[in-house]
Amino acid sequence: MTKVYLNKKISRRIENGHPWVFGNEVEKVEGDTAGGATVEVLTHDKKFMGRGYINMQSQIAVRLLTRDRNEVIDEAFFYNRLQEAWKYRQQLGYIDNCRLVFGEADFLPGLIIDKFSDYFVLQTLALGMDRWKPAIVDALQRIFQPKGIYERNDVPVRELEGLPQQKGFLSAPFDTQLIIRENGLQMYVDVENGQKTGYFLDQHDNRRAIQHIVKGADVLGAFCYTGSFETHAGFYGAKSVLGLDISENAVAQARRNAELNGLSGVCRYEAVNAFDALKQWSKDGRQYDVVMLDPPAFTKSRETIQKAVAGYKEINLRGMKLVKKGGFLVTSSCTNLVQPELFLETIHLAAKDARRRLRQVTFQAQASDHPIVPGWENTNYLKFLIVQVL
Ligand code: SAH
Repeated sequence: MTKVYLNKKISRRIENGHPWVFGNEVEKVEGDTAGGATVEVLTHDKKFMGRGYINMQSQIAVRLLTRDRNEVIDEAFFYNRLQEAWKYRQQLGYIDNCRLVFGEADFLPGLIIDKFSDYFVLQTLALGMDRWKPAIVDALQRIFQPKGIYERNDVPVRELEGLPQQKGFLSAPFDTQLIIRENGLQMYVDVENGQKTGYFLDQHDNRRAIQHIVKGADVLGAFCYTGSFETHAGFYGAKSVLGLDISENAVAQARRNAELNGLSGVCRYEAVNAFDALKQWSKDGRQYDVVMLDPPAFTKSRETIQKAVAGYKEINLRGMKLVKKGGFLVTSSCTNLVQPELFLETIHLAAKDARRRLRQVTFQAQASDHPIVPGWENTNYLKFLIVQVL
């Protein structure tokens, strides 16, 4: 097997368990590296670090799959890892929908699998993982006998790995407009044309967290996508809900979701730029009992963190101004590049500028089907905060 030797003078990150080996941490490579080959990683003095897959074209040269000298990377390895991933979710009470595989956190870097009842949506985001797609599909077939499997590999990160963007069926074709159940509601999930895998399962518990504060409330939800939070607000007894998203498709789907749950009279949607709307409406003096913000990741690279922080501050400041005294702001951030402390600090700065006092109601991360591994920053990405705005 190909051997990768690490530089002598690197931090102990890999030795301490982190699964990534950056290109500049590699001293030398002995053997074949083509096609995402399986490699053995050793320290400069030949201590075994683990086995993983290599891509010298990527910034992350090797991603480790196992630390166990006796574990072989073959079809059975993927079958076993998927079984373990499913066992963990079952232990936590997941039956129907869940993120079945959350990349590094399931010791399967570069692999995402979402389970929507009997249907599975898969992403292989690195060359060395893409190679094992047939084995992964086979394991899914054997464990779940699913009604369908769909590939959402139409994501730009694949190009950094030299992989094409593509999407399509990995099983017999099926109707890609699914209906899932969540917290007692029904939601349409478009696995073919929806964002990412079609639905943001990570906010599953957080959607329930708004239950009491929206009762009888006038609610504004910005960056609503298919209206998951907004439909929940309606379901939990909001008086009125207005959802905003820049995507016409998302808004159309959000309206269908309202209808599906008998909430068309409560939940309304507009396709607008939320930045403009928040700015204008806070100037106009509009007031809501609850304002919810769930913007996309404002940054994907370390270089633009400051810009992202400015974006979060801006929308949260506007959002707070739109909240009646004693009302609530529900605010999220989904990039790991803004870690929880920085997010909280940004919200506090926004409150200072808005001249509002805050009381923290709850501060949460993503649901437990997206476990966080301490020290692996990219697994700690979702911040969900509810504050009372005084
Ligand atoms: N709350 C949603 C997820 C939101 S994802 C849920 O729980 O399912 C972020 C959304 O922001 C996307 O739907 C995207 O279309 C939208 N978006 C991005 N830029 C925007 C803008 N400037 N104004 C309004 N919506 C925007």
